[in-house]
Amino acid sequence: MSVLVYIESEEGKFKKASFEVASYAKEVAGMMGTSVTAITFNAEDVSELGTYGVDKVLKVSNDKLKNFNAEAYSDAIKQAAEKEGSKVVVLSQSANSKYLAPLLAVQLEAGYASNVVAVPESTDPFTVKRTAFTNKAFNFTKIETEVKVLGLSKNAFGIKEAQGDAAAEDFSPSLSEEDFSVNVESVDKATNKVTIADAEVVVSGGRGLKGPENWGMIEEMADILGAATACSKPVSDMGWRPHSEHVGQTGKPVASNLYIAVGISGAIQHLAGINAAKTKVVINNDPEAPFFKAADYGIVGDAFEVVPKLNEKLKEF
Ligand code: FAD
Repeated sequence: MSVLVYIESEEGKFKKASFEVASYAKEVAGMMGTSVTAITFNAEDVSELGTYGVDKVLKVSNDKLKNFNAEAYSDAIKQAAEKEGSKVVVLSQSANSKYLAPLLAVQLEAGYASNVVAVPESTDPFTVKRTAFTNKAFNFTKIETEVKVLGLSKNAFGIKEAQGDAAAEDFSPSLSEEDFSVNVESVDKATNKVTIADAEVVVSGGRGLKGPENWGMIEEMADILGAATACSKPVSDMGWRPHSEHVGQTGKPVASNLYIAVGISGAIQHLAGINAAKTKVVINNDPEAPFFKAADYGIVGDAFEVVPKLNEKLKEF
């Protein structure tokens, strides 16, 4: 009956979002009077998961599962849920999990709620709070199937320490050739920079920066803060920055703890993608820029004066 969590890892390290998923599962398990079981793929040391409330870890070790494979992972997680009698399965909202969760829900004949932002309002009926309309509203969704699959929004619940045993158990799901009809053979990272999806801090530049040659100060700030770099749509459309950095309604979503926007006006389509960021800092020389209405902190000033000064100060910490 335990709550099952899928713990993602990359290059042998657990992803931070998975600790948040485990913390969340611990709270839900407490409400249901049960424990937390995690499933990992090719992870070595899983004891760390105990710190986030995981009581038991099903360790899958299989070379064929070295790289993410939605069909095979889904099949394995389904078998783990059945073995544990899990009625609730929790995943993060990473790109891989967003692909995996609906597949898993179909296999488990479960209701699936994505963008979950809080522990259930009630477990009977099972009702979860979710974001809607690009984070401008919430809805409360009742899931009536016996098994529920939840996708937890990043940074919605936070990482909380809790005591769990993280007792490891080898688990060998039975996988068929069909599970491997599509296979990722290898993954070559294009860059070693922090990705927007994983970043705690994102530093973003807009058309106010005038040209690609002026991004040095943005990259410097990102280096100091260990942040990812991002940009508005016109900036990537003009080729000043790669399309992978475009954030907003038609770009990547941002759910970092801190989002620093430099020379970005704050058009509705931009805000749609960054609403979920916890704290927004805006640097713009126009005091009427719409972004200031959405900002937690604002600096009215010329980016070419403010950002270098800010970088010097940040280096002192
Ligand atoms: P601008 O609107 O040109 O703003 C530049 C800002 O920089 C201004 O506020 C100005 O005051 C400031 N500035 C100028 N000089 C300085 C200086 N020296 N120091 C400080 N500040 C300065 N946009 C996105 O970003 N993401 C999306 O996903 C997206 N999707 C879209 C989808 C659709 C269907 C449509 C129609 C539009 C979309 N857009 C999107 C575009 C969006 O409407 C805006 O045009 C865009 O966000 C504006 O980018 P910007 O703020 O960089 O540029």
